[in-house]
Amino acid sequence: MIKICMIGTGYVGLVSGACLADFGHHVTCVDIDGERIDRLEQGEIPIYEPGLKEKVADNVSSERLYFTKDLAAAVRDADVVFIAVGTPSADDGSTDLSYVFAAARDVAKHLTNYTVVVQKSTAPVGTARKVHAIINEAKAKDAEFDVVSNPEFLREGSAVPDFLEPDRVIIGVQNSRAADRMREVYRPLYERETPICATSIESAEMIKYASNGFLAVKISFINEIAHICELVGANIDEVAKGMGFDPRIGNKFLHAGIGYGGSCLPKDVSSLMHVASTHGYDAPLVSAADAINQGLVDRALEKLYRATGDVKGKTIGILGLAFKPNTDDLREAPALRIVHELLKGGARVKVFDPVAMDNFKKTVKAPVEYGRNVYEMASEYDALILVTEWNQFRELDFTRLKNAMKGNIFIDCRNVYTPERLAAKGFTYDSFGRGKP
Ligand code: NAD
Repeated sequence: MIKICMIGTGYVGLVSGACLADFGHHVTCVDIDGERIDRLEQGEIPIYEPGLKEKVADNVSSERLYFTKDLAAAVRDADVVFIAVGTPSADDGSTDLSYVFAAARDVAKHLTNYTVVVQKSTAPVGTARKVHAIINEAKAKDAEFDVVSNPEFLREGSAVPDFLEPDRVIIGVQNSRAADRMREVYRPLYERETPICATSIESAEMIKYASNGFLAVKISFINEIAHICELVGANIDEVAKGMGFDPRIGNKFLHAGIGYGGSCLPKDVSSLMHVASTHGYDAPLVSAADAINQGLVDRALEKLYRATGDVKGKTIGILGLAFKPNTDDLREAPALRIVHELLKGGARVKVFDPVAMDNFKKTVKAPVEYGRNVYEMASEYDALILVTEWNQFRELDFTRLKNAMKGNIFIDCRNVYTPERLAAKGFTYDSFGRGKP
C-alpha cells in the first residue's frame, strides 16, 4: 500500500484518486477550491462522470479515500504526490502553467521523507524539470524527492474504466528508485500485463502531445474528406467504413461531423503549435488540423442559414451542449459558439442537454431558454440542431416532432441519422459529408 496525495480534484484528479484507492492505496485528495472539498466530504460529486460516484463512495467507506483542505499534512504523509491541476490555454495559445508551479511550491514546503512527485497534468516538454527546480529550491535541506512525468489518457465520459484498464501507462523517470515506486503505484496494472512504457521525462511529456495531436489530425482529416465528399457527391459514412478495414488506418476516430472540442484536444493542439513556433517551426500539419476544426462550426451554421434563409426572428432548438456525450464539460464545446452566433444573428435559442445545462447556466449565462426534454417546446421550433450525440438523441420520435414543430429543418452535426430517413419523415435535413446538400 502506497500513501498518495492527489493535488486537484477535477476530472483527472478525482478519477485518478478514486481509482488509485481502488488499487488498494491510501489516497488523500486536496484542492484549493475549499467548497469542492466540502462537497466531496459530504459525498457529493462535483462533476458528472459515469461510475465515479459509486467508486468514490466505495473507497471512502473502505477508508482508502480521503478529502482534505490540509495540503501540508497530506504531502507530509505521502510516499507519492500527484499534481493533477488544470493547465489551460493562455491567450497566445501557450500553456498556462501557473497552477502547476503553485502546486509545486506548496509541495516543496512540506516534503519530509523521500517522495516521488508525479507531474500528471498535461504540460509541455520541460515542465517536469521546472517542477523539479522549483521544489529543489524551496524544500527543506534534507528532504529527498524525484519528479516523474505520468501523463493521463483517460477520456471524459468513460474516465473510470479508462483509468482502471488503460491501453498503456507512460512513466517518464530519471532513476530506478522513482521507477520502482511508480511500479508499486500501478502494480495491479503490471500484474494484468498492461503495457507500461518507461521513458525519459521529456519523451513522456511529448507522448501526450503527440497522441492528442495525432487524434486531432485524424479527426480533421476525415472532416476534410467529408467536405470533399459533399463537393463530389460521395458519402462519408461509406468512405470511412471502407477506409477503416485497413489495419494501418483503423476504424476509430473516422467519424465526420462538427469536430473535436473539450478541455484537451483544442488546448493541447494549441500548445504543440506554440511550442513549435517558439523553436521557429510552424508545425503545418497540426496547424491545418486546428484550422479545419475551427471551420466546422461555421460549416454547421452555413447549413442552418442555407436551410432557414436567415435565423433572425426564428426559434432554433439546440440538442446537446456538452462537448461530447456522458459529460457535463462545456470547455471548447462547439455548442457554445453556435449559441453565441445564433443569438448574435437575432434568433431565439432554446437548449436542452441531459446533464450540462446547470453548468451552462452558471458559466455561460447566455439569454437562452432551457428545455426539460426535446419535445416540450417543439411547437416553437423552426429548426433543430443536434450538436452532441447523447444516446437519447439517437432515436428521436420524428413523427411527433414533425407534427409538433413549426418548421421542418434538422441539422445533424454528428451524422446520427441518414438523409433518407429524415427526408421520409418530411424534414429538410443536412449533415456532414453525405453527398451534395
Ligand atoms: P479541472 O479543471 O477539472 O480540475 C483541476 C482542479 O485542480 C480544480 O478542481 C482546481 O481547483 C484544482 N487546483 C488548481 N490549482 C490547485 C492547487 N494549487 N492546489 C490544489 N488544487 C488545485 O482539470 P482536469 O480536466 O482534471 O485536467 C487536469 C489536467 O489533466 C490538465 O492538465 C489536463 O490537460 C489533463 N488531462 C485532462 C483530461 C480530461 O479529460 N479532462 C484527460 C487527460 C489529461
